[in-house]
Amino acid sequence: MRIAVLGGGVVGVAAAYYLARDGHEVSVIDRNALPASETSYGNAGLVSPGDSYAWASPGALKMFVTSLFRSDLGIKVRPSLDPHFLSWTWQFLFQCTPGRAYVNTLRKLRIAMYSKQCINELAAETGITYDSGQSGILYFYRSQQTLDQGARHMQLLARHGLVIEVVGRDRLIELDPGLAAARDRLAGAIYSPMDQTGDSCLFARNLGGWCEKNAGVRFRYGATVTGFAVDGARISAVLTDDGPVAADAYVIALGADSALLGRKIDLRLPIYPVKGYSVTVPVHADRPAPRLGGVDEDKLIAYSRLGDRLRLACKAEFAGYDRSHRPQDFSTLLAVARELFPDSADFQRAEYWAGLRPMTPTSVPILGRARYENLFLDCGHGHVGWTMACGSGRFVADIVAGRKPEIDPEGLLYAA
Ligand SMILES: Cc1cc2nc3c(=O)[nH]c(=O)nc-3n(C[C@H](O)[C@H](O)[C@H](O)COP(=O)(O)OP(=O)(O)OC[C@H]3O[C@@H](n4cnc5c(N)ncnc54)[C@H](O)[C@@H]3O)c2cc1C
Repeated sequence: MRIAVLGGGVVGVAAAYYLARDGHEVSVIDRNALPASETSYGNAGLVSPGDSYAWASPGALKMFVTSLFRSDLGIKVRPSLDPHFLSWTWQFLFQCTPGRAYVNTLRKLRIAMYSKQCINELAAETGITYDSGQSGILYFYRSQQTLDQGARHMQLLARHGLVIEVVGRDRLIELDPGLAAARDRLAGAIYSPMDQTGDSCLFARNLGGWCEKNAGVRFRYGATVTGFAVDGARISAVLTDDGPVAADAYVIALGADSALLGRKIDLRLPIYPVKGYSVTVPVHADRPAPRLGGVDEDKLIAYSRLGDRLRLACKAEFAGYDRSHRPQDFSTLLAVARELFPDSADFQRAEYWAGLRPMTPTSVPILGRARYENLFLDCGHGHVGWTMACGSGRFVADIVAGRKPEIDPEGLLYAA
C-alpha cells in the first residue's frame, strides 16, 4: 500500500518506520526542511513511563483555576474566548475526578511502557544513536513532606509494573553525583530505573535518514498540508501547497496542528497546544554534571543529559499557537539550573527554545482509524510524546495492517 504520513515529528517518523517495515511504500510530508523541527526538537528528553500521570486530576483542577490569577506557577492559563480552547477546557475539567485520573493514567502507562520497549528494539534493529542514557530518572523533592506525598502518589504506577525505589538524600547523590552541589536543598527522590533519556530530534533525524536509505521512505520536506480531497467514504488525496499527494492510506501525525487540519474534514480532535520552554547548554567536560535524567518535582522542571549537553525544560502555558519566546520566559528555569548544577555547564552559551505540546484532555493519545476508511490517527501525545512515539507508531501500523495490536487497545482508539 502507498501510505502518506502527514507530519515528520518523532511520532510521524516512528510511524513511517513501522509502516515501511510492514512492506508499505511510505512518504512523509512535512512543512519544515528537516524532521523534528517543531515540538520534537527541544523537549526535556525524558523517556519516562514514570511520568505517566494524566494531567487532569483533582489537584490539577485547583492549579488550573489558581493559575488564572497568578503568574509564578509552572502552569499559566491565558483565558481566551477561542471556542476550541473553551471546549477543550470543559472536557479537561470533566477528566479531573479521581476516577477519570486513575483510568487515564493507567492507559498512558500501558502505552508508555510498551513504547519504551519499542524504542530499545528499534534502536537495536537500526543501530541509530540519539545521545541516549539508560540508567533511569530521579523524581526528586525538596522537603520530606513533598517526598512522602510523591512516594504515596507513585504507588499507583508501582502497582502496575513500574519499578521504583524511594531514596533519601545520601542514596540520591550516590545515584547521581552530578546533584552533589544541591545536596542540602534536596530531601530525597523516587528513582525509576526503567526510565531513560535521549534526544528525540536526533532520534527522528537519524531514524528518518535510516528509513530513506534502508526502507525506501520518501520525505517531502517544505510542503504544507492544507486540506484533503474526499471521495465518498475515502480520502482520495492530501492537498499541499506543493500540489496534491495521492496515496492508499493517510496517517495524521501533525502534533498540535492535527486538530486544525482535522477540522477541514469535520474531524473533531480534542487537541490543544500547551506551550513549554527549554534551554540546552554545553556541559563542561572536566566538571561534575548530572548523569541521569531528573525532575525537580517541587519546581516542575525536567532535565536530561544528552551527550555533552544538558537540556532543561519547564512550564505549561495555554497561549494558543504562539511559539515565540522572550528572555524572561527562561529566568526561573535558568535560576533553578544554576542552583542545581552551578559548575556543570556553560550557561552563557544556552540555546533557547519553545514548543507546543499536543495535549488531549485525558493526556492519552488518539490512535487508530477515523471517519474515513483509509484515514488513521497518531496524534495528541501531549507531555510525554517522545516516550510514547514508537509504541504508538507500532500500534497504528498494526491497525493499518488489520493485525491485533500487541497491547490492549482499550481507551487508545479514536472514538467519534
Ligand atoms: C517543553 C516540553 C518538554 C517536553 N518534554 C518531554 C519529555 O521529556 N518526554 C516526552 O516524552 N515528551 C516531552 N514533551 C512532549 C513531546 O515533545 C511531544 O509530545 C512530541 O514531540 C510530539 O511529537 P509529534 O511528532 O506529535 O509533534 P511535532 O514534533 O510537533 O511534529 C509535528 C510535525 O508536523 C508538521 N506539521 C504541522 N502542521 C503541518 C502542516 N499543516 N503541513 C505540514 N507539516 C505540518 C510539523 O512541521 C512537525 O514536524 C515535551 C514537550 C515540551 C513542549
